[in-house]
Amino acid sequence: MPDLYLPGMKACSDGNCIFRENTGMVTNGGCSCQRELQRTEMGMQALRTILFLRKQARAAYDNGYIDGWDDAS
Ligand SMILES: [Zn+2]
Repeated sequence: MPDLYLPGMKACSDGNCIFRENTGMVTNGGCSCQRELQRTEMGMQALRTILFLRKQARAAYDNGYIDGWDDAS
C-alpha cells in the first residue's frame, strides 16, 4: 500500500496511521493525524472520506487492479 500523503506533508509514526503505512519502528498509541481530524465536524467528514478511499485503494491493490506500488510496505 502506498503513502497517500502528498510529498512534503508530515504524517505521524503510528503503526495504524491513516495516511502512511509505517513499518519498522512504529508507535502504537493511535494515529495522531486521525485524532486531530476528529476535533472538528469538518475533520470528521474528511476522515470518513479518507477511510473510505483507503478501503477502496486497498481492495483495488489487493485484487491486482493497481500495480507499480512498493510491495515492501
Ligand atoms: Zn497518522
